[in-house]
Amino acid sequence: MPRSWDDAYTGDRAPPWEIGRPQPAFVRLADQGLLAGRVLDSGCGTGEHTLLAAARGAEATGIDVSARAIELARAKAAGRGLAARFETGDVLRLGDLGLTFDTVIDSGVFHVFSDEDRIRYVASLASVLRPGGRCYLICFSDRQPGDAGPRRVSQDELRAAFGDGWAIASIEAETFEINRAMLDFASAQAWLAAIDRRA
Ligand code: SAH
Repeated sequence: MPRSWDDAYTGDRAPPWEIGRPQPAFVRLADQGLLAGRVLDSGCGTGEHTLLAAARGAEATGIDVSARAIELARAKAAGRGLAARFETGDVLRLGDLGLTFDTVIDSGVFHVFSDEDRIRYVASLASVLRPGGRCYLICFSDRQPGDAGPRRVSQDELRAAFGDGWAIASIEAETFEINRAMLDFASAQAWLAAIDRRA
């Protein structure tokens, strides 16, 4: 992990998750019309998934703790002529936003947190996702060999983290694409989870 998230977006080499386009798993969801309504891209980085949702007509918001990433995301939105809201903020305290969303996207964020912060994170997501709303989350899977990159997550860990107040709609094997500037592989085994906030 970088010393600070801002550092990850400041060096000469792009961080491993920075592939300059959305993850194919999220493009497929967008193609199915599932990134709709008020969409929050939690830990949005430079905003590819926020902008994917915005381009498909969603009212899209991206939040990231790195001011540098948010600056880059805003520049991309302007360059592409897309309307999206980007704010620096802590996704462990999303309730502070005072906003409610229909859909939350998490691309490679859940897997950065410690066990303790996972609990805070899931409560934070629950505080902004409307009852009946859905979270789509992609994380490194325990089927990914080695230990380069982020924590591996098992299906059981996902089910445990999203317990009370949530219903797991599906967990599917997926691929998480990677920029090879720092890691020695171009894609990793991942889980794509669709998780509903109980009404
Ligand atoms: N979703 C983006 C970035 C994934 S990398 C993408 O797919 O490209 C993980 C991201 O989580 C980084 O951008 C990092 O700055 C952000 N992050 C980590 N902890 C955070 C926190 N507590 N609040 C907000 N963002 C956080």
